[in-house]
Amino acid sequence: MVLLGAPGVGKGTLAEMIRAEYGVPHISTGDMLRELVKERAEAGRIASEYMNEGKLVPDDIVIGVLEDNMKDGEKGFILDGFPRTRKQAEALQSILDRKRLSLDAVINFEAPVEVLTEHLSGRRQCRDCRTIYHMKNMPPKKSGICDKCGGGLYQRDDDRREVVVVRLKVYREETAELIDYYQRKDLLKSVDASNDPEMTFKEVKGVINSQLNAQ
Ligand code: AMP
Repeated sequence: MVLLGAPGVGKGTLAEMIRAEYGVPHISTGDMLRELVKERAEAGRIASEYMNEGKLVPDDIVIGVLEDNMKDGEKGFILDGFPRTRKQAEALQSILDRKRLSLDAVINFEAPVEVLTEHLSGRRQCRDCRTIYHMKNMPPKKSGICDKCGGGLYQRDDDRREVVVVRLKVYREETAELIDYYQRKDLLKSVDASNDPEMTFKEVKGVINSQLNAQ
């Protein structure tokens, strides 16, 4: 399953909820790239330049990182933040063909821009286990400390206001066309993500359960 939607719409949070309920691995290319940056290799240095500016990391680096991290024999997964360009969507199709898998659904999360910016400005993430919080809507029990593992919470550099403006523009210009792309393949399911994650998750479960019943 692919999760589509603008930065800040809640893809990471929803992907974790799906993983917990259905036991399907959650694959986030953003998380993979942040790990790559920590390794201090050349590809990580290049990736960090794009990420710090809110731009898309070149397709060949992202596709390479995804392929390196995919486990053999994986039966299914939730992709969060990939694909983001037409070229990536085509690369995903080839990966799936090789693994003899097919996409069950592409969920397109929708929310007004004010909701996206509010989500991004209050977002905090655990440095260790990467659990996502929101200062107002989903605060940790102890300020600055992850409920799950006790790790420290931090604000991502690219959640700063000036970078968020670029990320939203990049989404409109480079990623939004995938909505049409998957609509034409009859895979797209749109879900309203402007309310709290629990309500959005109810709608997501409706989509997943109808897919499961159809199989
Ligand atoms: P995310 O955690 O999904 O918000 O991604 C954070 C940043 O990582 C993005 O703003 C991009 O710079 C980069 N990134 C993540 N996934 C991709 C992708 N599929 N293609 C290109 N860049 C990506």
